[in-house]
Amino acid sequence: MSNMKRIAVVGAGLGGLAAGSLLQKAGFHVDVYEQSPAFSRLGAGIHMGPNVLKIFRRMGIEQQLEDLASHPDFWFSRDGETGEYLSRIPLGDFARREYGAAYVTVHRGDLQAMQMTSLTPGSIHFGKCLSSVEDSGSDVVLRFQDGSETRADIVIGADGINSKLREHLLGAEAPTYSGWVAHRALIRGEQLRKYNLSFEDCVKWWSEDRHLMVYYTTRSRDEYYYVSGVPHPAWDFKGSFVDSSRAEMLETFGNYHPVVQALIESSESVTKWPLLNRKPLPVWSEGRIVLLGDACHPMKPHMAQGAAMAIEDGAMLTRCLCETGLDDYATAFRLYEANRKERASRVQSVSNANTFLRAQEDPAWVYGYDVFADPLKSEVNS
Ligand code: FAD
Repeated sequence: MSNMKRIAVVGAGLGGLAAGSLLQKAGFHVDVYEQSPAFSRLGAGIHMGPNVLKIFRRMGIEQQLEDLASHPDFWFSRDGETGEYLSRIPLGDFARREYGAAYVTVHRGDLQAMQMTSLTPGSIHFGKCLSSVEDSGSDVVLRFQDGSETRADIVIGADGINSKLREHLLGAEAPTYSGWVAHRALIRGEQLRKYNLSFEDCVKWWSEDRHLMVYYTTRSRDEYYYVSGVPHPAWDFKGSFVDSSRAEMLETFGNYHPVVQALIESSESVTKWPLLNRKPLPVWSEGRIVLLGDACHPMKPHMAQGAAMAIEDGAMLTRCLCETGLDDYATAFRLYEANRKERASRVQSVSNANTFLRAQEDPAWVYGYDVFADPLKSEVNS
């Protein structure tokens, strides 16, 4: 290996790609290792708030995302049965003015593809499933399932809820099933034209114990998406998701508003996912290894901020490493945890409680945040 200091990011999800891009732009030499054999446009939507678009500005993809994504003027919360409005949270121009960037909804595969363009060509390595890691004290050896290995000065574990790097730091432990599932479906916009109904840009339909979040994933409104949150006693299926059906959706949301019935009728395929969780981790880093995103603080997705926290983590870690330099990674890791733990834990707990924006409230603490703006706190719990 040459004398050049190297950072390895494990996982090319939304958090790992943000960390990789921002660190490269800050002048670090970074490689990203991803287990999937190639990029694929996985079928789901995602919200990205102004707190994240301010980071994308630095990654050079804010405008590209704005051109592609849907721009809701409001997040509406409505009673699932009657349709009565429970809250109208202003976004659109209000978000630009008050929070400093746009609020968008988009297909997460399109977003991930866009993020990839902001990394140095050739620095993302697919088909690299990390099987073991060894911190030698002077560097880290990463071994992959294909028999290859590489070395790095520090390693960022952005490898999601089943993180191998979390396991290395804290031992093997499966995530806990939250008792909730999410149904997901994409609907072609043209399917909805036959209804004399209004399909709002971003609306969450609620009842006592379940909900359906619905939004467009494109600016042209040619793709509509829904994701549910529904209690389900046990995840007794094999795999990370299973097929669901219109019949199951009808059984689950049969008493909901006619707009929801139209969506169920228009669903060509529905999948069902377990919502998984972990207790807060006692450590976020050890030696030359540090965790971010779902590897570190997974949450139920009900605030639409899980990926946002992973991306903010990547940005804060970059900021701290710029502050200390790579040689003093130990101080950078302490600073990073000190400046992320409180916010990520607060979002994790509000998200798990599923109360966010159900009633009229001010979301400025989430959307107005700028990860690069506040002075850095020096210690955890300070
Ligand atoms: P991941 O996205 O899980 O990425 C981890 C990457 O690491 C993957 O590419 C994986 O293949 C790779 N990897 C894993 N193991 C290895 C290994 N051993 N070697 C190499 N690579 C490996 N968040 C939002 O901000 N807004 C939303 O609207 C939103 N909606 C959601 C809806 C649902 C139903 C769910 C379940 C989640 C939602 N989230 C949302 C949360 C969000 O998806 C996650 O918080 C986010 O994806 C975490 O990003 P990450 O980069 O930490 O991990």
